[in-house]
Amino acid sequence: MKSVQEFMEDVIRKNPGELEFHQAVQEVAESILPFLEKNPRYAKAKILERMVMPERVLIFRVPWLDDNQEVQINSGYRVEMNSAIGPYKGGLRFHPSVNLGILKFLAFEQVFKNSLTTLPLGGGKGGSDFDPKGKSDTEVMKFCQSFMTELFRHIGENTDVPAGDIGVGSREIGFLFGQYKRLKNEFTGVLTGKGVNWGGSLIRPEATGYGCVYFVQEMLKTRGEGFEGKVCTVSGSGNVAQYTTEKLLELGATVVTLSDSGGYIYKETGLTSEDLQFVFELKNVRRGRIKECAEKLEGCTYFEGKKPWEVPCDIAFPSATQNEIYENDAQTLVKNGCYAIGEGANMPTVPEAVKIFQKAKILYAPGKAANAGGVSTSGLEMSQNSIRTAWAREEVDEKLRQIKVNIHEACVAYGKQEDGYVDYVNGANIAGFVKVADAMMDQGVV
Ligand code: NDP
Repeated sequence: MKSVQEFMEDVIRKNPGELEFHQAVQEVAESILPFLEKNPRYAKAKILERMVMPERVLIFRVPWLDDNQEVQINSGYRVEMNSAIGPYKGGLRFHPSVNLGILKFLAFEQVFKNSLTTLPLGGGKGGSDFDPKGKSDTEVMKFCQSFMTELFRHIGENTDVPAGDIGVGSREIGFLFGQYKRLKNEFTGVLTGKGVNWGGSLIRPEATGYGCVYFVQEMLKTRGEGFEGKVCTVSGSGNVAQYTTEKLLELGATVVTLSDSGGYIYKETGLTSEDLQFVFELKNVRRGRIKECAEKLEGCTYFEGKKPWEVPCDIAFPSATQNEIYENDAQTLVKNGCYAIGEGANMPTVPEAVKIFQKAKILYAPGKAANAGGVSTSGLEMSQNSIRTAWAREEVDEKLRQIKVNIHEACVAYGKQEDGYVDYVNGANIAGFVKVADAMMDQGVV
């Protein structure tokens, strides 16, 4: 049996320079290789070696004309990682930092996450180094149309079903869907996150944030606690951060921070629902910066270039991007009494910081378990599209909540240690792995 180091040497040699991908694979290898010792049939079939190689990677040119009629060129990607248990499924990210390594890490995580949802969803991820920030609606539309003009031939409701991620919200999904429909002359559920009046599911916009809170709620229950009166820090101020905050407020928690790539805002008495409405309008309509809150909301202070982890809290919700909690941040959080982390973002915590949380035995929910509510509700959107119906808000929310309860149970089943501490990283990795691995075993060497 290979050691983690030997396994990783091979991964690094085959995927040079893709640091985030190495990081994501290493975390999984540390959970799965010991599991394979006890389950050698998976090792013999080289399941993990196959899972770290995408089934297919598409890279394409995306040319478009900006408002000055100048030609702009971006890179487009789709990583189709694993289709053992269903069509490829995972978001599109538009952000200048996007490269193949980042998308491979996200697609790899997605395979495990989608397996955990219990729905028939394979794993994929895609996007572009296009930056929607500062672009006019017309420019965003032209870019999306050009992007889809290549992507459309590779996706489909039974093949690959993209959704949103950083920089891809309802506006972008609308433009992408419009172009797909025009090219294929078909109205199908090829994308999720659609508008509710044209095939979208109620609760999909809320699902990642709500689902993350539901997962942490299950973790808190294991210690006989709830959210009432808990001080929470949230990073980011996009889709995930906004709906995490909304649900936390509903459950009686005090949310004291939000952030963007410029810095964070802090309100000691906690953001109110009215404050959150201001953030919705600021971020989703005017597309402004979070620092404006300090000018407009009473009791709110802005800290330029800083992250919210220096603020004392009971529970932290990193909901912006990968690698936003470093070792020193984790130390500060633990020292200040933080005892639970719910990762709304994908891989927001560097491995050394994860070790600090686990050593302190705090409740730590990794992204693939905590933020799986988004893709779960995308799965529910696909089901509604297939049977051409629309479920009520309460029905979707209840299904989402039940999925999060089930994911929590699966993590506990595979992650509970002898002293009773639940290692949610091991739990999520092993539970996610087993379903995909069994399907791959059944389907032969493909
Ligand atoms: P949005 O684009 O709506 O918001 C992203 C937020 O994170 C913004 O506030 C943005 O600030 C901030 N951010 C992005 N990059 C950086 C950076 N490098 N440094 C600091 N802040 C940054 O994206 P989402 O809310 O959809 O996604 C947030 C995270 O959640 C991502 O990790 C995503 O993969 C994950 N996720 C999202 C799901 C979904 O359904 N949307 C599902 C599961 C996971 P700024 O505007 O300044 O860039």
